[in-house]
Parts: sequence; C-alpha cells; structure tokens
Amino acid sequence: MDPDMVQQVIDAASRVVASGAISANGHGNVSLRVPGEDEMYFTGGPSLRGHQPEAVARVGLDGTLREGRLPPIQAAVVAMHTAMYADQPAVGCVIHTHSPFATSFAVARRPIGCWIEALAMFGLPDGVPVAGYGPRGSDQAVANIRAAVVPGVPAVLLANHGVLVFHRTPELAVLVGGVVEEAAQAAVNSIGFGGPVEIPPEMRAAALQRAMAFEQEGTAEVGRR
Ligand SMILES: [Zn+2]
Repeated sequence: MDPDMVQQVIDAASRVVASGAISANGHGNVSLRVPGEDEMYFTGGPSLRGHQPEAVARVGLDGTLREGRLPPIQAAVVAMHTAMYADQPAVGCVIHTHSPFATSFAVARRPIGCWIEALAMFGLPDGVPVAGYGPRGSDQAVANIRAAVVPGVPAVLLANHGVLVFHRTPELAVLVGGVVEEAAQAAVNSIGFGGPVEIPPEMRAAALQRAMAFEQEGTAEVGRR
C-alpha cells in the first residue's frame, strides 16, 4: 500500500466531511485513481467521518481487491467507481455520498436544474441528470449510471439512493459535490415561494465566461491592476 495514496484518500474523505455535503451518518465512499495504473485506492470504512487509514483498500479497476479488506456493503459499490475510471480517462477521483438535499431529488427521481450560477461555472450548465434505479452494485445500477452520464458532466443523481461525483482531482470533485448540494438545498427552500427557476441557457454560458474572465485577471491586490 502506498502511504501517500492512502493519505490522499483520507484527506479527500476529510474534505467531503468538511464541505458539509454529506448525510448525518457520514455514509459514502471516495476513491482515487492511481496515475498510470489500472487500480484505485478506496475508502472501505462504513463512514467518511473519521475514516481510518487502515480501512483504505487498493482495488483493481476490474473490481478485484489487491490489498486491504473490503466489507460486503462497501464492495457492492466498487463497480460504480471503477466504471467511471474505465469510461473517462481524465477522471482521477470519484465520490459517492447521500448528501441530504441532493438525495431528496434522487429519491423523487427529479433532476437538479441550473438554478444557481455555480452549476454553470463547474461543468453542470444543464443541471444534474438522474440515473435510473437498480439495486446497489448490480449490473443494472451500473448500466443505468453509464447511460445517464453525459460526457464532460461531473455528477449524476442515483435514483432512490444518492449522488455520484467524478472529476480530475479530489479538490474539484469535492467542490462539485458541494455545489450540487447547495443548488438542491436552495431549490427545496424556494418551494414556499413558487419553486426554483432555471437560469436561461444563454445566460449560463455568460456566467461561465464571466468566471473565466475573472480567473484570468488573477487575484486582486491593492496597488496592482
Ligand atoms: Zn450509497
């Protein structure tokens, strides 16, 4: 087991917990692809809260356990992680949670619309699609996820289950998980005032361009312009 990879997975799990986009019991799993190898490091523990390095497992992208141990309940969801790495070479981190507000949409089998600007800025200008239900870890569940994932779109809701986020780095994956949860929470809170309204499609592109323009200008500092 590479201690550096183990630490990176633990750090990513801690970041998910710190982001707040997680259910009360902390259920979820995080994996990191080993660069250049056909394997990943995976959180085999029951909760991302206080996840211990000893519970991290090294798993082949064919789903076989290579090092560590994998309780059955965690082994069942390995396939949805490996499928994302197999299908998307650029993906370096996969995160699965039951973050409460996003999971409310998953339970209702309703996609999340582009209700907040951050979705457009972080690769979800058309919101978050829903993958049809299948028993967790089943071939059906994985096939449904693959069918729902839109190339370049870093998140999908899992019907009657939770959320799956995948991105190049753990930092970006955690960020997207937080943005998805924030959009879902704002939408639920807006229901008393008529419900969420989508940003018009042409304005979503404008929001992204505006964000990129700010990014190019760099950090503002006094005395520098
Ligand atoms: Zn789950």
